Amino acid sequence: MYWNRKAETLKPGELRRLQGKRLKKVTKYVYRNSGFYKKKFRDLGLKPGDIRGVEDLGRLPFTRKSDLRDNYPYGLFCTGLESIVRVHASSGTTGKPTVVGYTGNDIELWTEVMARSIMATGSTRKDVLHVAYGYGLFTGGLGLHYGGERVGCTVIPASGGNTARHLLLMQDLGSTVLACTPSYAVYLAEYAEKEGIDPREDLRLRVGVFGAEPWSEPMRKRIEDALDLKAYDIYGLSEIVGPGVAQECEEQCGAHIWSDHFLPEIVDPETGEQLGEGEEGELVFTTLTKDGIPLLRYRTGDRTILEYDKCSCGRYHPRMIKVRGRVDDMLIIRGVNVFPSQIEHVLLRIPEVGSHYLLVVEREGPLDVLTVKVEVTEDVISDRVRDLMKLEENIKSSISQALGIKVDVELVEPFTLERSKGKAVRLKDLRE
Ligand SMILES: [Zn+2]
Repeated sequence: MYWNRKAETLKPGELRRLQGKRLKKVTKYVYRNSGFYKKKFRDLGLKPGDIRGVEDLGRLPFTRKSDLRDNYPYGLFCTGLESIVRVHASSGTTGKPTVVGYTGNDIELWTEVMARSIMATGSTRKDVLHVAYGYGLFTGGLGLHYGGERVGCTVIPASGGNTARHLLLMQDLGSTVLACTPSYAVYLAEYAEKEGIDPREDLRLRVGVFGAEPWSEPMRKRIEDALDLKAYDIYGLSEIVGPGVAQECEEQCGAHIWSDHFLPEIVDPETGEQLGEGEEGELVFTTLTKDGIPLLRYRTGDRTILEYDKCSCGRYHPRMIKVRGRVDDMLIIRGVNVFPSQIEHVLLRIPEVGSHYLLVVEREGPLDVLTVKVEVTEDVISDRVRDLMKLEENIKSSISQALGIKVDVELVEPFTLERSKGKAVRLKDLRE
């Protein structure tokens, strides 16, 4: 289903012309309004007039998260605060947060792409949308909220926390769409089971809009089975706008990037060279229509592949194939590149394994040691010790085979690993 049929079904040629027109405009705009970009252009000997269309995108300078931090809080804003109506900030896990500002137009644009995203999952004004993303500086809650209201859904602004209350509200208010992180969806399902709430009988959920952290296909399958809904991936980041930068449609074959507003490209994370269609690399965005804090060629740190062929849903907006993990999530263990998502992929295909795991990396002498702590399901615990050892060996060899390095596996009882109500914590790197 479409929210904005005309924009969502633009043909490749029309889309590229529109992107080119908007790219020229935003280039002039940042040159005129941002001391930061003006200096970058001068350093490169670049004039706004040199950018004639999408084909010149590669000539523009990159922007990095560190640029936002170095110019904290307002240094990259292109308008005065008199035009900014809202501020959001990303959680600063290291040091200061990243602050972004929205003009009235920016909020309108965000609401538009969120409305498109919600309807792309087949949700309509007849749906009751339960928003369990946090409301506040984090963009998840308010992003879904405004988009849901625009579509005409009945929005329940439940926000984060208090799992018992979420389940009570979803039962009593008849929620049909759930929006939260995938790891929280898993937690909700576990909690419901413990409390004797059967999602098939007691809940009316049919759609999940899950994002803000990478998740694997086996994880999707588990959530769909546990909560009896169809789970869709939503992608976004506050630097670009928040959630709603890209959204899976009902075909579930990658998230469509709303590329009339956010122009994507894939670059080699090491060299910054543009990569061709179908090649895996770092996802980079240029915002084409933002006023408050437009960004040129923003390095997201997310690894993906873009596909440009027409989707069966009728959209040509490029699809990002499920994010394999952030460039900086990649671990180097004894010289081998390891993505935590690869491990999740192996684990969640094993039925005796629960949905929670933790990777611990330590250094023993000169060697890195990776231990995967795995929660097993309730049924397994009652099994005989011999079977547990067999299971442990089995998991160990499956992961080692997938990664090409030896790992340790430690089975732990259900509900012993820490649960997160926001983004999941799945890695403890104890190396210096
Ligand atoms: Zn599609």
